[in-house]
Amino acid sequence: MDKYIESVYESLVQKDPLQKTFHQAALEVLETLEPAIKKFPQYKEHKILERIVEPERIVQFRVPWKDRNGEIQINRGYRIQYNSAIGPYKGGFRLHPTVDLGVMKFLGFEQTLKNSLTTLPMGGAKGGSDFDPKGKNDSEVENFCHSFIMEMYRHIGQFTDVPAGDIGVGGREIGYMYAAYRKITNEHGSCVLTGKGWGWGGSLIRPQATGYGATYFAEEMLKTKKDAFKGKKVAISGSGNVAQYAVEKCMQLGAKAVTVSDSDGTVYMPDGMTKAQWDYMMDLKNVKRGRISDLAAKFKLEFAKGGKPWEYKVDIAMPCATQNELDGKDAQKLIDGGVKAVSEGANMPTTPEGVTAFQKAGVLFAPGKASNAGGVATSGLEMAQNSQRLFWSAEEVDQKLHGIMVNIHQNAYETAKLFGQPGNYVLGANIAGFLKVANAMVAQGYLA
Ligand code: NDP
Repeated sequence: MDKYIESVYESLVQKDPLQKTFHQAALEVLETLEPAIKKFPQYKEHKILERIVEPERIVQFRVPWKDRNGEIQINRGYRIQYNSAIGPYKGGFRLHPTVDLGVMKFLGFEQTLKNSLTTLPMGGAKGGSDFDPKGKNDSEVENFCHSFIMEMYRHIGQFTDVPAGDIGVGGREIGYMYAAYRKITNEHGSCVLTGKGWGWGGSLIRPQATGYGATYFAEEMLKTKKDAFKGKKVAISGSGNVAQYAVEKCMQLGAKAVTVSDSDGTVYMPDGMTKAQWDYMMDLKNVKRGRISDLAAKFKLEFAKGGKPWEYKVDIAMPCATQNELDGKDAQKLIDGGVKAVSEGANMPTTPEGVTAFQKAGVLFAPGKASNAGGVATSGLEMAQNSQRLFWSAEEVDQKLHGIMVNIHQNAYETAKLFGQPGNYVLGANIAGFLKVANAMVAQGYLA
């Protein structure tokens, strides 16, 4: 690695030695920026790397709430406002027990480059809490969301910072949070949160957007090899928002989604998930909030307890659950099974060893910041509709989403070629996302 880039990386490790997930995300980006830093010396002169790895603002606070027994519980809340050079901060809230400052920084940093790739004017942010929604009833989740917004409301706003959902935050939680925001501020219609429900400011296709977008990206990668989705076997991990709609889009494109999973294990469906199974999963996960093993029991399917979706012979892999869920060994199994393309629906689901293995084996590999950008892009479209006080049809939003994904693919593909590494979507996406933010920071001077 270039000495200057290495020094930036070492300094961030030294400052926050325990933030391992953030180090991993930062290193993955910094390593690939070398050709851009060499080509454009002004970035070094303006200390863009030193500035871009440091969040503009970190908010951390306590979230007290009462459980079903009337007992007070305390969680930790966060908002990392990473970079606003190209637009208001934008990024989801995550509710999961693994949330800490390092995880929030990793996600906020990724979000900055991802939002830049969408071509929409959105800066990068991330937030959430170590609250675990699993096993909580509706009232407990509602109590928590209200308390969370009691502090969060003062840090967000349609021109400041516009949060959305992520792991553990879907339509239900956005609803509870939006109600609290409205009550406190006495404002409605200002787009302070995206992922709202249809009928109270939400955009059609926003729930589908991340899963659909990751599938569109995989389709674009296959096209570069004159290949298509139809008839392909696809391993999908997770059974939450992103996984659900990746499965649906695979079915629509004539592919077979052969796995879904949760943190308990993996369901295997050799002939591909059917519409009846998908409907059952949607109800199971979004209404009953049950475990994916119920799907296997209901339809007499194979369930690998503790197993991952990467054990099976497939053409395409779409990790859609969480970070570092696909390691070097998993990648090797997929390569041995003949995998042709990997499109990340989750954020950083593949470990660095996994990424290297795929790239060495010539597997088409799409990093999440490019392939899962459809979610935030459609949040951007929700903001645009809210500003106009108008709603677009599902077809119109889906068409725009598709166009954005085709553009992101093209941009990452062409940038990789331009910087001498054709087919390297990791390098292409990182450099393309970085250049726009870096140029805005240079133009705005040292304060940006
Ligand atoms: P959900 O909460 O809807 O679903 C998450 C899924 O992943 C669940 O099936 C969950 O299973 C599983 N999962 C979570 N942690 C683990 C783990 N440690 N091991 C195995 N499975 C796990 O979240 P989303 O679908 O919204 O998000 C999934 C990923 O996509 C995340 O990385 C998120 O950052 C990313 N993403 C989401 C976007 C969005 O629009 N929602 C946009 C862009 C990226 P269980 O219930 O057992 O925990």
